[in-house]
Amino acid sequence: MMGFASNQNIMPSRSVFVFVGIFFSGLALAQQQIPGRQTPVRQVVLLRNARVIDGTGAPPQEHISLLLRNGKIEQIGGPELKVPAGAQVRDLTGKTVMPGIISAHSHLGLLVNDAESVATGYTRENVTAQLKQFERYGVTTILSLGLNRDLVFVLRDEQQAGRLAGATIFTAGRGIGVPDGAPPLLAAADQVYRPANEREARHDVDEMAAHRVDMVKIWVDKLHGKVPEMTPQIYKAVIDEAHKRHVRVAAHEYALEDAKQLVSDGVDVLAHSVRDQVVDDAFVKAMKQHHTWYVPTFTVDESAYIYAQRPGFMQTTFFQQAAGPQLMAKFNALGYADTINQDPQTSQHQKDFANGQQNLKKLFDAGVNIGFGTDSGALPGRIPGFAEHHELALMVQAGLTPMQAITVATGENAKLLHAPDRGTIAVGKRADLLVLDADPLVDIGNTQKIFAVYHDGHTIVGLPGHAK
Ligand SMILES: [Zn+2]
Repeated sequence: MMGFASNQNIMPSRSVFVFVGIFFSGLALAQQQIPGRQTPVRQVVLLRNARVIDGTGAPPQEHISLLLRNGKIEQIGGPELKVPAGAQVRDLTGKTVMPGIISAHSHLGLLVNDAESVATGYTRENVTAQLKQFERYGVTTILSLGLNRDLVFVLRDEQQAGRLAGATIFTAGRGIGVPDGAPPLLAAADQVYRPANEREARHDVDEMAAHRVDMVKIWVDKLHGKVPEMTPQIYKAVIDEAHKRHVRVAAHEYALEDAKQLVSDGVDVLAHSVRDQVVDDAFVKAMKQHHTWYVPTFTVDESAYIYAQRPGFMQTTFFQQAAGPQLMAKFNALGYADTINQDPQTSQHQKDFANGQQNLKKLFDAGVNIGFGTDSGALPGRIPGFAEHHELALMVQAGLTPMQAITVATGENAKLLHAPDRGTIAVGKRADLLVLDADPLVDIGNTQKIFAVYHDGHTIVGLPGHAK
């Protein structure tokens, strides 16, 4: 089984997995290798007798067969679907298949070992490791929403040429912040623009557009009055210039007043929950009128305090392998819970989280475009791969059904990204699939019971669910 041997070097050093869960049939095709992509390349795979959640919100279908070839879903049928010569056949009786998860708000290269914020973390080695972690957890596409070094464009090109593994990169490049203001994260000078005037802001947009960014990111937040905030003059110039270049704009925001102004000025995506208060009907109406997307990112606030409460999920292998030993050591350190519980910011985060939960339910029920993201990778505790599964549970906690949450994170998010080749299970779509041991419609926590991940037709190994 040369596939297994060659996969050793994509395993993170902190993890020891036993390869029992996945086996390749004796009919496996020639296992041609490409640099950086150590998994066997695009076998023809026939998945049999699965329950399928297709990402459109339609009811699940039973006893479905899916034929994967050349990175695409080539055929969908029932038990009658013929096994092509040389195909690997996998019986998925009792299992559920859903589209790979898409995060429209994550970050790369800001953390080292998921545990420390480091201004020098944006390296090929670190970014690649994070992409692979997302992929192992079934997050097959991510939008890295700002604070990227230009290396991201090189890596995206390598992926498009089939030379680099890991979650598929969409990127907002550096993004546009404020001198002495947001974003307050540690970053190198070549990771974010901080224009002083409209002319500089337009220049920065042009530079990113020349790199073919998938989105422009701006930060509009005075951080509770602690720092200067981006002025409407600047962001109007950014939005205008970006739209001239056919690039959309996503804003970090916090306050309802800012959100309203951004929406009326034409921003395309609000990349966090409105959290300072419960939104009013005028805001709901404006969001619908402008077709603005809203991405809640509950992980942002919840991750600031939840680990001090030692929730049960922290005992799972699924969590611990994503967090890694350095972050687990922080959580387990003597005094960690006291520090969090005594931090005056903690009660603020709890209020913000509660407002965000109410706002999602209100906006969703009103028919506003809801997208999915976590801000994973921005700070320790926003854990790539784990955060996305936990965010689904937090959306259900806010009042969405499991089906609604899954649809937002797959089919709807593909619409947000303007990526019609993914997000749903249909003939011709990318073979980006998550195979689960249990039905997530019964319990959204079952998205964490991963049996297998397919990404672009590749079988991804080294899953937490396979350490058995
Ligand atoms: Zn972010």
